[in-house]
This record gives sequence, structure tokens and C-alpha cells, in this order.
Amino acid sequence: MLKGKTALVTGSTSGIGLAIARALAAQGANVTINGFGDKAAIEKERAGIEGEFGVKTLYSPADMTKPAEIAGMVRTTEQTFGSLDVLVNNAGIQHVAPIEEFPIEKWDQIIAINLASAFHTIRAAVPGMKSRKWGRIINTASAHSLVASPFKVAYVSAKHGLAGLTKTVALETATFGITANCISPGYVWTPLVEKQIPDTMKARGMTAEQVKRDVLLAAQPTKEFVTVDEVAALAVYLCSDAAKAITGANLSIDGGWTAE
Ligand code: NAD
Repeated sequence: MLKGKTALVTGSTSGIGLAIARALAAQGANVTINGFGDKAAIEKERAGIEGEFGVKTLYSPADMTKPAEIAGMVRTTEQTFGSLDVLVNNAGIQHVAPIEEFPIEKWDQIIAINLASAFHTIRAAVPGMKSRKWGRIINTASAHSLVASPFKVAYVSAKHGLAGLTKTVALETATFGITANCISPGYVWTPLVEKQIPDTMKARGMTAEQVKRDVLLAAQPTKEFVTVDEVAALAVYLCSDAAKAITGANLSIDGGWTAE
């Protein structure tokens, strides 16, 4: 379905982003992967995607807090593969603390990575998409783009902002064959969720088991974590021609969380 097209997935060295990068490669797209982590492990993933799916790949170490590095990553992708057709803004971090104790540098970092980086990638990628009259912009938002939870002030603010950014871009690009949508997962078992358990234990005075059952899965009527492959399948669908009328949407994949 995506043969001859190129995808860039930010924050794709782990979790949801890696699953989306692999799923787009499985559809034939060349892929730029991005994110932090162990160099050898990243190289193994990158080479593995090429070997498994017969596509070309590129790894960009661009830091999503640095606008110049972000623009450079988009430029390098276009120069290497000839185009950037599918842009997935997925990089994200979390920090859990009451607002009066929330570290200012964590607020700045979360707004930069979870929100501003999408502005910078889209700004750089849209001219090429407009000129080719085709593009797919997919922003990994969250159930927290629709509802709030206590102790996540920066994350909830950034994700609500990302939903607004997405709608604006959808309106500006609607006549150019470009769609822009949010995918909003509930809890997906990835390092991002695992890492917030100790701080949530502290903020709420709970054990790890209580956090899993009474905070995380309590929010989800299905009482199950969403899987990274389920999220990736939705991203693939949004890239299809069948989804060309879906733009400016915020698609929940949250086991019923935001229906409550
Ligand atoms: P993860 O920790 O497994 O992956 C995060 C990725 O972002 C990693 O590749 C990491 O290296 C990258 N990253 C972090 N800081 C970066 C920076 N400064 N520059 C470049 N890359 C950076 O987490 P995940 O759960 O897969 O999260 C992916 C996205 O999904 C995030 O935007 C997150 O908010 C969103 N999300 C996750 C869940 C969940 O329950 N896991 C739910 C809803 C939304």
C-alpha cells in the first residue's frame, strides 16, 4: 500500500513508535526512525526493519527539544528518499507530580517534546506534501488529549494542545490531499507507562499493584492494556485511500476510557 512512499516516525526506538514504524515498513514504506536509546539496539532494529520488509531505512538521532535538529531530520529524510509522505509525531515523555511540586524544567521539556516538536516537523514537512498533493500526518495524542488526570499537568496540557494543532493543520491542508489526525490511546504497556509507576506510587501513596489496578486499568472499562500493534494498525488504516476523508479527527483507542 505504501510502496514508493516515505514515513518518518518520531520516538520510534521504543514502544508505540517502533510498532508504527514496523507496520508502515510492512506496507512497503521507506522509514526514518528517531529516538534515544542504546546505539547497538537501535542499529539492530533499523537493520531488522530493512531485512524483514525489504525497504530502506534511516536513523536520525534528532532531539525533539531542538527545532534546528528537527528541521534537519525532515530535510535529510526528503533528500535521502526523495519525499516525506507519512509523518508520525509520536515522541513523548511523562512526569507525574502535584502542580505545586512540578519541576519547571519538566514542564518545559514535556511541552517541547510532546507538543512543540510536532509543530516543527509539520512546518517543515507540509511544503513537500502540498507540492505532491498527498500526505498523512498522524499525531500520537492520548486519552489525555480529551480528559485529564491529576498530577499530569504538563502531559495533559501538551496533549490537549496537540489535538488543537492537528485540527488547525487539517483545515489548512484539506484541499491538498493531506490528512491530519490524532490517534488517542488509553494505557498501552510500554516503558513510558512502566516508568511512571514509582512516581504515581509516591503521589498517591499506593503500591505498584494498586497503581496498575486502581489507577491505570481502573480508567479502562475493558480492564486490559491496549497493545502497540492495535495502535499501529490504526495508523496504517489512516494511511489508506479508504481513510482519505478522515481529517481533523481525534480517534480514541482506549478500551472505552473516554466514553465514561
Ligand atoms: P516509549 O517511552 O516507549 O517511547 C517514547 C519514544 O520517544 C522513545 O523512542 C524515546 O527515545 C523517544 N523520545 C523521548 N524523548 C525524545 C526526544 N527528546 N527526542 C527524540 N525522541 C525522544 O513510550 P510510548 O508509550 O511508546 O509513547 C509513545 C507516544 O505514545 C507518546 O507520545 C506517548 O505520550 C503516547 N501515548 C502513550 C500511551 C501509553 O499508555 N504508553 C498512551 C497514550 C499515548
